[in-house]
Amino acid sequence: MNIKTAIITGVNGQDGAYLSKLLLSKGYRVIGVIRRKQANLEKLRYLKVLDKITIEIANLLHKKAIDVLLEKYKPQEFYNLAAQSSVYESFISPKATFEFNTLSVFNILDAVKQFDKNIRIYQASSSEMFGKVNALPITENSILHPVSPYAISKASAHYTCVFFRESYQMHVSSGILFNHESYLRDTTFFVKKVITSCIKISKGELDILEVGNISIKRDFGFAPKYVEAMHLMLQKSTPSDYLICSGKSVSLKEIIDYVFDKIGVDKAKYKSNSELFRPSEIIDIYGDNSKAKNTLNWDYNYSFFDILDMLINEELENRQNESASKKLP
Ligand code: NAP
Repeated sequence: MNIKTAIITGVNGQDGAYLSKLLLSKGYRVIGVIRRKQANLEKLRYLKVLDKITIEIANLLHKKAIDVLLEKYKPQEFYNLAAQSSVYESFISPKATFEFNTLSVFNILDAVKQFDKNIRIYQASSSEMFGKVNALPITENSILHPVSPYAISKASAHYTCVFFRESYQMHVSSGILFNHESYLRDTTFFVKKVITSCIKISKGELDILEVGNISIKRDFGFAPKYVEAMHLMLQKSTPSDYLICSGKSVSLKEIIDYVFDKIGVDKAKYKSNSELFRPSEIIDIYGDNSKAKNTLNWDYNYSFFDILDMLINEELENRQNESASKKLP
């Protein structure tokens, strides 16, 4: 049996960890790329995959580092997930976000083009690229109008992929993913922040949760299901771009109210602070996932409130296990 090799950049992030788990379950050899020795590998440890993958350190801003990886491992698939992934952070560090999120992609495509054009590449594009929305639902043909430095960087990277695919006949597919959540999301992201803060308030460890503009609506999904679509894209003989989304939007206010009710915390314990509003914001966005469902046979039927139930339970269980293990002698 031929064992496939996949390289995953940003392997220690939320999606990298779930994708590693998925590919290992399918018998792949997984090479995970991190940017520095001190990287936090907790997410890989949590999913019990850290000792099953090979970790490599590489600076994706240096093409040579990618050349070395390709030569050493000769992968069939290359999943590029590494990115400065926070919209909020991109307003604070716009230039660094743009530089890394675009040049790393260019280097990967250029290195693969020279080494072996048969390597199939997945690029992590983002629904944020659509920005100022004209018509809903978003489809693969909707116009891009990014409204944050993060979205601008992702749009640029996206079209770099289209360029290499069309000009050099490379197998490059982009997943245009809408927000997707899991227990492994960093606490700086909205849903994880709401759940962890609400639990802290319920335990008397935090007074109040301050949030920004919660009237905006987003299309939220479940990360372990979204990484399945990444793998499916690279199994198709023809590369393409796919929206990966739930097809429905919910407001941030609905999410906070649901979490506070579920955990039993008074809703007076959160407040919206206009100082936390962003300079520009997408008001409402949701996508049409029929291309992914029909072409990739990707299945997705979750309501986001069911996902919130799962996330709250996982958070509470892990907290309980942590405090139980602290009590051990
Ligand atoms: P994540 O948890 O924030 O992980 C991002 C990964 O990229 C981490 O491994 C991080 O490494 C690495 N990274 C960040 N800045 C880097 C830099 N300057 N140089 C090298 N590596 C860097 O993100 P995720 O949720 O897994 O998302 C995966 C990809 O999908 C990202 O490209 C993101 O932009 C995109 N995306 C995500 C969503 C979503 O809702 N999650 C939606 C659309 C698109 P460190 O740990 O060292 O920082």
